[in-house]
Amino acid sequence: LRLDKTLLRYELTRVETYAALEHELTANDWDIALVDYILDSWTGADALRLMHKMKPELPILVVSGNLGEEIVHECVNLGARDCIRKGELYQLVPAIERALLNQRNLRRRQEAELALKEAEDQIRQAQKMEAVGRLTLGIAHDFNNILNVILLQSERLMNEAPAMSPLHADLHQIHRMAQQATGLTRQLLSFSRQRKLDPKALDLNSCVAASIEMLGRLIGADIKIEQSLGIDLPKIKADSVQLDQVLMNLLSNAREAMPNGGLLKVATETVFVAAPPPGRAPGLYVALHVTDTGVGMDEKTQARIFDPFFTTKSQGTGLGLANVRAIVEEYGGYLLVTSSPGEGTRMSVRFPALIAKEEETRNQAILVVEDEDDLRSVMTEVLRSQGYNVYAAGNQDEALKICRTVTEPLDLVIADVMLSSGSGISLVNEIVSIFPNARALYISGYAADTVPIDNPAERFLQKPFTGGMLKERVQSALRRAA
Ligand code: ADP
Ligand code: MG
Repeated sequence: LRLDKTLLRYELTRVETYAALEHELTANDWDIALVDYILDSWTGADALRLMHKMKPELPILVVSGNLGEEIVHECVNLGARDCIRKGELYQLVPAIERALLNQRNLRRRQEAELALKEAEDQIRQAQKMEAVGRLTLGIAHDFNNILNVILLQSERLMNEAPAMSPLHADLHQIHRMAQQATGLTRQLLSFSRQRKLDPKALDLNSCVAASIEMLGRLIGADIKIEQSLGIDLPKIKADSVQLDQVLMNLLSNAREAMPNGGLLKVATETVFVAAPPPGRAPGLYVALHVTDTGVGMDEKTQARIFDPFFTTKSQGTGLGLANVRAIVEEYGGYLLVTSSPGEGTRMSVRFPALIAKEEETRNQAILVVEDEDDLRSVMTEVLRSQGYNVYAAGNQDEALKICRTVTEPLDLVIADVMLSSGSGISLVNEIVSIFPNARALYISGYAADTVPIDNPAERFLQKPFTGGMLKERVQSALRRAA
């Protein structure tokens, strides 16, 4: 019997043989079955068994002229919901109604149980992630200290090794690997969300430029990088370390998607979004697009890329994009992915634009002038992680070019005393004449007393130094009156 909701309308099929019943059960989806007990060549019991096997949930009523205790008992044991004697057919409709109601309640209960089970699975998964988070936090923290030593010592050895020594290449490799590992631990730390966040008004363009400068040297020569940074972008509100992670992850994924080279495009723009995804406000967003011409992804992969630990790489962690999404969403933004296999991928991130009145106090701006590339980039990284706007130059010309083009006044110049292109001291004097409020901090491998600067106790930091020493010295320099 197949019933309309009202019970008044129904569709009925009658079968007489075992084979016909079997066929009917496969061919159609019935709501309820009525079975006679005495059949020609078989019994209602056979029918019950068959139906129970093929459609265990189908409610069955036995309707028969001759129903003794024993048969009723047998039928109920075989799964019949009810037995109705032919002499008492007035009971049929209420019995059908009852059976259907029960059936509906059963379905609802099953659905509820399923939903409960899913919720429990989710909680279990969340707890697992939390445990993993706590564990990685502990490891990442210790690991960071170890890496810091490796980084600084390899820098020191690079400085000390004779200029032509073949050791340079090896030391560079150690240094580069340690930097990569630092990126990884930072990712783990942020994934477990324990670091104290420091959201500020940030200029996406300068973060992008810095990330490309960082990653540019790691990206092989066979990958061409194209930048097109939007003009007059509104600021966005984010934690600078987290924003770096977003950029680094997207850029390194793009690089890894192009093992045989290709084109990596990085673009920023302001977009007005009238219909954002649920939970996001319509309005101005600052968009970042990272586009590669790499391997691309099929839909199945695309559906999973944000899952923690999902990776298709033998050395992958699968944490990158999970992290990216958590960060982007934390600041009210969202992500868009376009990709097709063999054609490349475009990852777009949108952050809500910060309206001027919400802008916090300006980040302090620091210019780092250091001719040793790796040291410069570590310093830049350390300082940016502290929330400073950092500009980096490898020589006088670059430094002066930055001074001409920056859109904010510099608060501090950190310069190597002896740059390979000339004196850091006269450079700093020149910069201070452009930005009278800029303080100076000198760094050098030589001892303070051999360096001709005033007040070296405050204005000088001898190499090698740790990130902690740098931060501390920078803070006290910035507290000083200009
Ligand atoms: P991982 O890089 O460690 O694998 P991610 O979370 O960063 O972890 O990325 C997850 C997966 O998403 C990658 O393994 C890859 O399959 C896919 N993916 C991410 N970015 C790209 C891209 N630009 N092109 C192709 N596939 C990508
Ligand atoms: Mg990745």
